[in-house]
Amino acid sequence: MKPRDFLSRLSKGGTPAGVAVLLSLLALCMAAMIAVTTLHEVREDLSLAFLVVFGAALMGLAALIGRIALEKTAALEKLRRQRTFLQTLVENSPIGIAVVQGPKHQFTMANLAFRSVPETGGAAFIGRPAAEVLPKGIADPLISSLEEVYRTGRTFFIREGEVTLGPRGDRTFWDGYFVPQVGPDGTVEAVIVIGSNVTEKVLSRQRAEKLATLAETNLAQLQTVLDSITDALIIADSSGNIVRVNPAALAIHGYRSPMEMLHPVAQYAQTFELRRPGGELIPLDEWPIMRALKGETFSDYEVLVRNIETGQTRHMGYNGAPVLDGGGKQTLAVITIHDITVEREAESEREKLREEAQRRAATLDATLNSVADPMFVYDPEGRIVRMNPAARRATGYRHEVEGLVLAERAPSLNPRTADGRPLAADEVPAARALRGETVLGFVMVCDQPTGTRWTSNSASPIRAADGRMLGAVVTAVDITAFHDLQEQRDDILRAVSHDLRSPLTAILGHAQLLQKLAERGAPASRLAQSAAAIEVNSLRMNDMIQDLVDAVRLEAGQKRLNRQVVRLAPFLTDFLERVIAETDQPRVALDLPADLGPVFADPNALERVLTNLLSNALKYSPPQARVAVRAAQSGNEVWVSVVDHGQGIDPDDAARLFGRFYRGTSTATSRPEGLGLGLYITRLLVQAHGGRIWVDSVPGQGSVFTFTIPAQAAAGQVAVGGQVTGCATRG
Ligand code: ADP
Repeated sequence: MKPRDFLSRLSKGGTPAGVAVLLSLLALCMAAMIAVTTLHEVREDLSLAFLVVFGAALMGLAALIGRIALEKTAALEKLRRQRTFLQTLVENSPIGIAVVQGPKHQFTMANLAFRSVPETGGAAFIGRPAAEVLPKGIADPLISSLEEVYRTGRTFFIREGEVTLGPRGDRTFWDGYFVPQVGPDGTVEAVIVIGSNVTEKVLSRQRAEKLATLAETNLAQLQTVLDSITDALIIADSSGNIVRVNPAALAIHGYRSPMEMLHPVAQYAQTFELRRPGGELIPLDEWPIMRALKGETFSDYEVLVRNIETGQTRHMGYNGAPVLDGGGKQTLAVITIHDITVEREAESEREKLREEAQRRAATLDATLNSVADPMFVYDPEGRIVRMNPAARRATGYRHEVEGLVLAERAPSLNPRTADGRPLAADEVPAARALRGETVLGFVMVCDQPTGTRWTSNSASPIRAADGRMLGAVVTAVDITAFHDLQEQRDDILRAVSHDLRSPLTAILGHAQLLQKLAERGAPASRLAQSAAAIEVNSLRMNDMIQDLVDAVRLEAGQKRLNRQVVRLAPFLTDFLERVIAETDQPRVALDLPADLGPVFADPNALERVLTNLLSNALKYSPPQARVAVRAAQSGNEVWVSVVDHGQGIDPDDAARLFGRFYRGTSTATSRPEGLGLGLYITRLLVQAHGGRIWVDSVPGQGSVFTFTIPAQAAAGQVAVGGQVTGCATRG
């Protein structure tokens, strides 16, 4: 250091050490001067004394100043260290600290934390305005706070001010302190800004608050749920104390306040007795709550709970489960109780009703089964819910058909009225009854498995006490036989009134003519002609009457067969000679195998069958045309055929020829010789022998009528002396 500098530093009030050195040098100079004066020119004692004292004082002063100077240096060093410490502290403080001043709020200082505010982009702070350096979200509230400080001159706070920062718009929270630095004139010269990011604190507090609110809400909801569930709920702790009950639990056990129930479970054994539905007593450690406390989970544990004090017993259903804490340790047990007394009572009532219904159904079934006529019970849609055996036999319905509604099932029967008009599904008696109508004796014709059946139907709706339609009941009396009889009666009436009248008219006419011829004295040959005509017509009439009588007898089962062994060859030869008119005999040929065995038949019936077939063959073929009678053995039966080469039979007629009063379309009008009973009687007689009859014919070429008759060997398999009934079997 140059002396001038040194002095200038001294003059400017430099270091105290410097001043002390200066004063010491000054004192030494003065002491030297005194010594020189003392040795060489001591003139005045006073001056010497003064100088000595002055010098000593000066040296003392110099020593004092030197000490002060040393102390000041030490203090200054301490201050410097403190300042460095403070600067380091401030720079590294986690709290942002900055100083701004001037109208544009320029930074004169900003520590690391302040400079690290997000979105400042590591910009230089010092000397730059806040609005430039800081993100807008922070700059705006900062500037308005600074202005507030300038306005009021007082410290200003912002607590947990929210700022949205970052590309994701994160919510951040900041505490800010704005401390004015006031100059001597009282104006704010600068503001110290202390800011800290309290986002984490605020967010975690908010989270905690939220959780607390949630927990509170959940708790409140849980409480509400517990209070509002209709099932009783009881919670017990692991020591077997009841710790919580809901209002339903109070009600079900007859308590008024929860406090009355918060006791050890064991205490309840004095008031309640629990039994299994079978009546067996349940020991306390198997009570539902105890089972749950033992860690069991169960549901629908049915228990009869008897209040020993009141004597009242209720039927309860228990569900139970243990409650585990997060670590899997059982802390509580919960049971819910459902009073099922009413349900069980209703169940037993239902059971009683079911038994009663079953009993009634059995009675109904027994009644229905005992009725000989078919009876049906329908549901409102027309499904068959009940039918008696007669109905089952008549319809042959399989189970799945019973389940069909009326509209689906009825058409399969092809129902029609007595005069043949088809009936729609909604016109049948069951449908009418299901609409509320009562039907009596409605005659209906249906195609059933047993053939065409005539039924007289009565139907009624079945209604509940309140008038609701429950279904319908229908009785279908089979009147087919009655109808056949009626038809038979009509046919006979028609035969008597019409067919028998034509030969009678002829007889009457010839008788009157005979009278007149006799009166006029006509020649005998002329009289003989009329007498012959009378004879022919009388015979025809006789045949007709015989057919009528035979048919009625056969149908009524009054004709008995008198079966015996018949050797066909001699029987047929004799028959042709006896029965066939001499004029016709040359037309008829017998064609029999040599080994033809005997048959087992009623000879009269057999003769009648052959007469009918042969007379038809002769009648319905040209006068000279040949007719053959053939026979052949076929297993246990013998086939007999009558073959002609006549007009043949229309295929439409062939199927109906064997019916009562049926006359072929080609012959009915042209040659009304018979009543149409011949083939009918023939069929009944053949069938009475256990045989069959059929025709093979080609119109214009001829016909072959074949019937079978049991051979003698098969006689044992045929009912001997069988009655002949034909009424139920129509051609
Ligand atoms: P009928 O006694 O009136 O002759 P049948 O029952 O014997 O009645 O015959 C019924 C009808 O069958 C006759 O009207 C006739 O049309 C027809 N028929 C019967 N046999 C023959 C046949 N051999 N050839 C052609 N038609 C026949």
